[in-house]
Amino acid sequence: MATTTQVTIVGSSNVDITAMMRRLPSPGETVLADSYRLTPGGKGANQALAAALAGATTEFIGAVGNDSHAEIALGQLAEAGVVLDRVKHIDGATGVAIISVDAQAENSIAVISGANSAMDEVAVRAAGALAGVLVLQGEIPASGIRAAIDAATGPIVLNLAPVIELDRDYLCRANPLVVNEHEAALILAQLEGTAELSTDPEAVIAQRLCDQGLESVVITMGGDGALVAQRGEDSASITTVAASKVTAVDTTGAGDAFTGALAARLAIGETLIDAAGFASRFAALSVQGHGAQASYPRSLENL
Ligand code: ATP
Repeated sequence: MATTTQVTIVGSSNVDITAMMRRLPSPGETVLADSYRLTPGGKGANQALAAALAGATTEFIGAVGNDSHAEIALGQLAEAGVVLDRVKHIDGATGVAIISVDAQAENSIAVISGANSAMDEVAVRAAGALAGVLVLQGEIPASGIRAAIDAATGPIVLNLAPVIELDRDYLCRANPLVVNEHEAALILAQLEGTAELSTDPEAVIAQRLCDQGLESVVITMGGDGALVAQRGEDSASITTVAASKVTAVDTTGAGDAFTGALAARLAIGETLIDAAGFASRFAALSVQGHGAQASYPRSLENL
């Protein structure tokens, strides 16, 4: 019997090439790095892995190239049982993020979108219906995001990171919009039609986003947890979800762990507040390990 897809993720997948060095090079300079590693990344792939590890039957729809990086980009997803049948294989390069990290954990990153830029309106339309909770990020072309929203059959979790221009009608189909503090201020400015970024507290920004037409907003705040805002008659109801007290060693991909886990719990009918509580505990486990996908919990026992 075919299993019903609970979470569909349309988004990016990359290979992260991370070089560790004592200090970052200045423009025009060459430094010797100590070591490097190739790991799977990309917000879409990270979130798909998180959703699957959080227990959801998950499909990832994205694009990779015909190079050796494609296998690395999708390896963890395949291992976790994520459905990859509709991943597009293009004649070109898989997306790559080139990350330099110095001894103080300061980094500089260059992203080459590669195959991810093929996830446009045409490619997403060709994929067909998108089942269950649909999860989207900002690392594929806006036309692909709009086409995915048009094809959604269930709730849409929109993690608009990085923030890209999206019409109000599309933005407001998100339920919830999931963003960090900085992204929340950028989207609010976009909706209010101003270049000025609000310095209001997160709760006020979330309220103003709901006033602009969003049904619900989740603002992630690192070690301070997350804030859940749900539009009401007069004002939004705001709930703070605490972060677990843990020693963070590497927060890379914590936001993706949170979003994927949130979608998995929304897919089984949990309330947004309960799902955010689970997502916060799931993401707190991820910050205790190095890397993004490698740090996601393989067992749900301690959740
Ligand atoms: P990234 O871009 O690195 O993925 P982000 O800015 O999108 O990060 P954050 O707000 O940093 O996302 O983190 C997402 C969630 O992960 C938080 O809401 C919280 O639940 C959890 N988290 C992050 N940092 C910590 C921490 N130091 N301790 C406990 N939980 C954390």
